Amino acid sequence: MSNQLERGPVRTTRAEALLASVGERGVLRSFYDEDVGVDLMQEADGTSEAREMAARIRPASGPVLELAAGTGRLTFPFLKLGFEMTALELSTAMLATLRGQLEDAPADLRDRCTLVQGDMSDFALGKRFGTVVISYGSINLLDDADRPGLYASVREHLVPGGQFMISMADTSRSESLERQQELSGRSGRRYVLHVRRSPAEGIQEITTCPADETSAPFVVCTSRLRLLEANQVVRELEQAGFDVIAPTSFRSAGDRGGHDALLLEASPKSDPA
Ligand code: SAM
Repeated sequence: MSNQLERGPVRTTRAEALLASVGERGVLRSFYDEDVGVDLMQEADGTSEAREMAARIRPASGPVLELAAGTGRLTFPFLKLGFEMTALELSTAMLATLRGQLEDAPADLRDRCTLVQGDMSDFALGKRFGTVVISYGSINLLDDADRPGLYASVREHLVPGGQFMISMADTSRSESLERQQELSGRSGRRYVLHVRRSPAEGIQEITTCPADETSAPFVVCTSRLRLLEANQVVRELEQAGFDVIAPTSFRSAGDRGGHDALLLEASPKSDPA
């Protein structure tokens, strides 16, 4: 099985401790399949990330396929820049939110966006695109065994000379092994986000819980990401038949902070005649 959403929530170290401390009030959920993920992700702005990608898209290269679109953090900026989009997402909760936001958007934007529920490591849409994009952190959701499926599916959906853009963390910057912060969601609800990195295991665990310790139910949401070096993804892309342009660095939220990010751009190698 190719993804966390189908396998059910990951029992992170932090989740185990929280659930043990709250007893019967505790409920474990997958971050991306729960209101909490939707609530927190809607607060994030993808304008500068979408602009970084859009600046590299060749003129008149046609519709863009966005993988793991979430609640549309990149989808809406792309639509506002005038692109026609197909947004693929696996989570029913994320897709429902994206659909709701599109319904509320001006007809000009709404009419240029197609939504598809699907797994980015194994999809067949029956059409090709000039560009396929995948946003910051999303490739890290796939296991080593599942990324080849992503590359193969993307190859099958790109026109000759098409572009595949992957935004990912710049792991050359040192980050603490454990951090915790309080965040607000779109609803105004407050959450505690806990992040644990384990370079030895090659993973990063994300755990959220309500900031209000008396909440009932006390919903603990988790996700597990693979720590991936850009070099590893470059090697995998080359093995999967792509030519890769060297990664470029950018700030995922422009002047307003965000993450140190890398953008990888790849094109399918042309088949030998
Ligand atoms: N693109 C959005 C953004 O930038 O805010 C969402 C990014 S979030 C890091 C990753 C997204 O991937 C979540 O919406 C999650 O539901 C989705 N996802 C997880 N596994 C997936 C899979 N196998 N195929 C498609 N989407 C998946």
